[in-house]
Amino acid sequence: MSYPQSFYAQTRSGDAPRPVLEGEHEAEVCIVGAGLAGLNTALALAERGISVIVLEAQSVGFGASGRNGGFVGKGYSQELSSLVDNLGIDHARALYDLTGEATALVRRRIDAHGIACGPNTTGVMVATWTDEADDLHRYIDWMAENFGAQQRFVPRDQVAAEFADSPVYFDALYSDSTFQFHPLNYCLGIARAAEAAGARIFEESAVSGLETERPEKLIVTARGQVRARHVVLTCGGYGLGVLPEVSGAILPVATYVMATEPIPEEVLATAIRQKVCMADTRRAGDYYRALPDGRILWGGRMTSRVSEPPRLAALMLEDLLTVYPQLRGHARVESAWTGTMSYARHRMPQIGRLRDGVWYGQAFGGSGMGTTTVAGELLAEGISGQGDRYRLFEPFGLDWAGGPFGRIAAQAIYWSGQMQDDAAARRDRARRASAAA
Ligand SMILES: Cc1cc2nc3c(=O)[nH]c(=O)nc-3n(C[C@H](O)[C@H](O)[C@H](O)COP(=O)(O)OP(=O)(O)OC[C@H]3O[C@@H](n4cnc5c(N)ncnc54)[C@H](O)[C@@H]3O)c2cc1C
Repeated sequence: MSYPQSFYAQTRSGDAPRPVLEGEHEAEVCIVGAGLAGLNTALALAERGISVIVLEAQSVGFGASGRNGGFVGKGYSQELSSLVDNLGIDHARALYDLTGEATALVRRRIDAHGIACGPNTTGVMVATWTDEADDLHRYIDWMAENFGAQQRFVPRDQVAAEFADSPVYFDALYSDSTFQFHPLNYCLGIARAAEAAGARIFEESAVSGLETERPEKLIVTARGQVRARHVVLTCGGYGLGVLPEVSGAILPVATYVMATEPIPEEVLATAIRQKVCMADTRRAGDYYRALPDGRILWGGRMTSRVSEPPRLAALMLEDLLTVYPQLRGHARVESAWTGTMSYARHRMPQIGRLRDGVWYGQAFGGSGMGTTTVAGELLAEGISGQGDRYRLFEPFGLDWAGGPFGRIAAQAIYWSGQMQDDAAARRDRARRASAAA
C-alpha cells in the first residue's frame, strides 16, 4: 500500500491491500478515485442496493482525504455572505444546511460502523491576529440571524486563560459545530462499510482511458476495464486528467501538516489549554489540534506549487513557535507532509452531471470533510433517481480554471493576501504593545 509518510499513515488501522483491477468487470456505477468524495458516493449507492466499483490509482485515502487536518465542520470555502449576495438567502441556507446534515451523518457513520478514528472531541476556537472585536460580534450576530449558528465571542483574556496562550492572538470565537477525527482511519472505515454493503474497491488501478459517448461507459486501467451505466469522477487535486472537461475545471492547491513528538502535559498546557480544533481568521491561517498524548498536529500555508518545499519540517515548526514561543526547545517535529486540495475559481464544490451517465464531485477546497459527504449523498440520489438536490450546485459549474495561468494568478492572490494579513497583524500588535506601555 502506498501512503506518504505521515502521522496518519503510521497510526492507520491496518487494512490488507485491495486487489488490482484485472480483466473485464461490470457494475451499474464505476467511481474513479477513493478519496472521501468517491468513498462516500460508493457507500451511499451501496446502501441503496446499487452495484458499484471504485477504482483508485494508489490506496484508499491516499490523497487529501487521508492526510488532512481532521476538522469536520459546516460550510464551504466560499464565504456565506457571497453565497447570500449571489444566490439569495433561501438558496444559501439550503446549501449551508446540507453541510449540517453531513456532519451529523459523519457522526452517525462513525457510531454505526464502529470506525475507530478518535479522538472525536467537539469544539473549534477561531482566533484573530488583529484587533477586530466589533467585526467578530457582527459576524456572530449575522450567522445567528441568517443561519441559526450558535457561536460564542471569547474576549482576549479568556482566550489565553481558556484556550490558547499566544502573543499573536486577540479575541476569538468558539463553536461546537465542529469536531475532529483521524481522517485516514475514517476513510478506511467508510471503505469497509461500503464493501460490507456490496461495493468493490480496487487499488493501484489508475484509470487511463474513458469512453463516455455511449449509454454503456467503458473505464480502462492498465490491466482491466469496467463497463458501467454511470461513471463518477472524484479525483480531487490528484486527477490524472482522465476527462479534461472535468479535471481542467480545478486548480490543485497544496497545504502542509506536521506532527510533533508528544510534549509533556505540563509544558503543553502553558500554550494550549484545550484539545479542541484551533484555527485563525487569516486567509491562509494555521489550523491545528493537540492530541491526548500531547502531540500537536499543525497545519497551515497554501500554495499552488504542489511539490514539497525544502525544509518543510523546519518551516512548519517556525510557524508553531511564532504562535507559541514558550514551546521552543520542547516541540520537535516527528513528521511533516504535503497534501493537494482541488479548488474551483468560484471556491465552491463542483457536484453534478456532465451528460447522461457522467457525474463528478470535486473542488471541495479546504473544507472537504462535510462537503464530500454532501457530494456522496447528492450524487447517489441523482444516480438512483431518488432526488435532484445536486441541482443546488448548478450555479457552480465546470468553468476552466486557467491551467498554469490560473495557478500563477492564485499564487499571486495568496501572496498579496498574506502580506496584507501580516501587515495588519503587525500594526495591531504594535498598537497593543504601546497601549500596554
Ligand atoms: C493538508 C490538508 C489539510 C486539510 N484539512 C482539512 C480539514 O481539516 N477539514 C476539512 O474539511 N478539509 C480539509 N482539507 C480538504 C479535504 O481534505 C479535501 O477537500 C477532501 O479530502 C477532498 O476529497 P476528494 O475525495 O475530492 O479528493 P482526494 O482525497 O484527494 O481523493 C482523490 C483520489 O483520486 C485518486 N485518483 C486521481 N486520479 C485517478 C485516476 N486517474 N484513477 C484512479 N484514481 C485516481 C487519487 O489517488 C486520490 O486518492 C485539507 C486538505 C489538505 C490537503
